[in-house]
Amino acid sequence: MERVRIVENLDFSRIIYGMWRLTDDSDTSVAHCTKKISLCLDQGITTFDQADIYGDYKAEEVLGNVLAADKSIRNKIEIITKCDIIAPCGKFEKETVKHYDTSAKHIKESVDSSLKNMNIDHIDMLLLHRPDPLIDPDETGSVLDELIESGKIKTAGVSNFKPWDWSLLESHMKNSLRANQIEFSLIQTEALTNGDLSFHYQHKTPMMAWSPLGGGKLFNRVGKLAECLSSIAKKYNADVATVAIAWILNHPAGILPIVGTNNLSRISKISKALNIAMDRRTWFELYTASIGNEVP
Ligand code: NAP
Repeated sequence: MERVRIVENLDFSRIIYGMWRLTDDSDTSVAHCTKKISLCLDQGITTFDQADIYGDYKAEEVLGNVLAADKSIRNKIEIITKCDIIAPCGKFEKETVKHYDTSAKHIKESVDSSLKNMNIDHIDMLLLHRPDPLIDPDETGSVLDELIESGKIKTAGVSNFKPWDWSLLESHMKNSLRANQIEFSLIQTEALTNGDLSFHYQHKTPMMAWSPLGGGKLFNRVGKLAECLSSIAKKYNADVATVAIAWILNHPAGILPIVGTNNLSRISKISKALNIAMDRRTWFELYTASIGNEVP
């Protein structure tokens, strides 16, 4: 599996396994979750994406139980987690309005809570989950620097940030931001044209693609895109999900897809997408089917 340099002494696997849906699985036992992680590791997928809010603030604990049960796993994997969304559920059930909090106090408390939940002593990458309209970039940037200096987090990044939100925050930091997570798939292609991908391509900062299969919606589609995907899948002797992930991987910007299936058999095949070298015409056939008309 290709590795992507994030900072000195930290590389991520090109494909990331996402844990948003971990608690949607009927089986959240240590044994079952360990199986998912080991199927990922077998393919070289070593980077795992979490957030404090996943599973109503419970998904980090599911991973933490695995890491407590088998202490050898932690040094084989890299952990991304996120903070800043406060939703009225789980530990925040008394909150009256969903909101964002990028204050130093909240970020520090979140990091301590994530470390405790996951039974770890450092987070490899902390992301601000959503851009906060009330951000004080000086305060937020300083606390991210402080957390890096303390060793509690190795790197910081953001998620769903526009280029201008990224620049505002980074201009108040000593360290640079190292990744942004953006929704990107054959059913959400805006990043190709709205400047998001170009910004990260230009600055050589990884863009991670969340919901690379449209959160499963790709499979409910009928019409041009479904037909095109299935005929291209036949051509490559692969399944439709593999082709859809390959479409992302074949963009030259080096996008890192974050795949979210809970299904063991699907997990075991994720990395097959890296075997598909897609030519320009095939890439455009899929893009054309996705946008519903030929490119101008
Ligand atoms: P996804 O890989 O696009 O979608 C996964 C969903 O698709 C699962 O429900 C899965 O069901 C279904 N699926 C996969 N393959 C299928 C197939 N062949 N046929 C039918 N259904 C299929 O990704 P995602 O879970 O939406 O998101 C991936 C990760 O991105 C998350 O875990 C999270 O880490 C990250 N994320 C980040 C943000 C952010 O704001 N930064 C937002 C959302 C997500 P099965 O489980 O049954 O296979």
